[in-house]
Amino acid sequence: MTYDRLVCANCAAPVSQGRCPVCRANRERLQQEGPFAGLNPMALIALMAVLVAALALVARAA
Ligand SMILES: [Zn+2]
Repeated sequence: MTYDRLVCANCAAPVSQGRCPVCRANRERLQQEGPFAGLNPMALIALMAVLVAALALVARAA
């Protein structure tokens, strides 16, 4: 889905420019409909941190 032409109801600027918090929230929500739908960026970062920690433990044990 494209949001390039979506105009914000709050600041009347294109949502893709992210000029106000409403724009940014809408942009984020629309971007989550992409290939990573349902994947929260913070969850991804946490997952990466867990993986790195596990790798460090394995490397230390070896
Ligand atoms: Zn806006």
